[in-house]
Amino acid sequence: MRTPFIAGNWKMNVTDREALAFVDAVKDRIPSNDEVESAVCAQSVSLKGMRGKAEHTDLRIGAQNMHEEENGAFTGEISAPALASIGIGLVIIGHSERREMFNDTDERVNRKLHAALEHGMTPIVCIGEKLEEREADRASEVVRKQLEQALQGVEAEQVKGCVFAYEPVWAIGTGKSSNPEEAGEMARTIRAYIREQYGQPAAEAVRIQYGGSVKPENIAEYMADEDIDGALVGGASIKVDSFLSLLEAAQ
Ligand code: PGA
Repeated sequence: MRTPFIAGNWKMNVTDREALAFVDAVKDRIPSNDEVESAVCAQSVSLKGMRGKAEHTDLRIGAQNMHEEENGAFTGEISAPALASIGIGLVIIGHSERREMFNDTDERVNRKLHAALEHGMTPIVCIGEKLEEREADRASEVVRKQLEQALQGVEAEQVKGCVFAYEPVWAIGTGKSSNPEEAGEMARTIRAYIREQYGQPAAEAVRIQYGGSVKPENIAEYMADEDIDGALVGGASIKVDSFLSLLEAAQ
């Protein structure tokens, strides 16, 4: 059985002071990892402080992105070894905002995924179609292609530890969540692809999150689908009560 996994993606919101106060407020109220795994992915400046406060709790702290190279002349970027050195073992890769605005091509997503795996980090690999692709009935094709490219050269054993976030681009930050049936269908498309390429054990092991306007009021509809194992949540993960409600609904 797969443990549900709820991850917050705070994006470029939440100051360091707010981030630390958030961890203080939730840390004694986090469900055990055996029931539901929980994480928040914050701005890089806050990761070390949050990690310190979350030590000995089941709340995981993650990065929202990282560079694919180990080090070098990449002003302003953050590397996997730097994240690993402060105990960060979780990273979002290929979020659609990064694909759209920061040149995270499929090839770079693949390289970032390799970097994460080499450093023993859990990657949350984001995939999802744009509105025009869904309207042209190409959603499955687009997602399969993104998976194929993201997973180039990744072994079945490594795939097992990956988390995939299916996030239809038109549902992110818009309040227009995907209907749960469609989201479930896409989760099945992703799992079927993993089964075809990496075998049944990998398909059974990978966790697939839905993301896009998830909130405490609608998360249960997604979690009811047997192929949806959690959620990647933006706006509704920032407030303490809302985040805790999401975790509660996922148990
Ligand atoms: P949202 O963002 O929940 O605010 O729609 C989701 C995401 O970008 O991961």
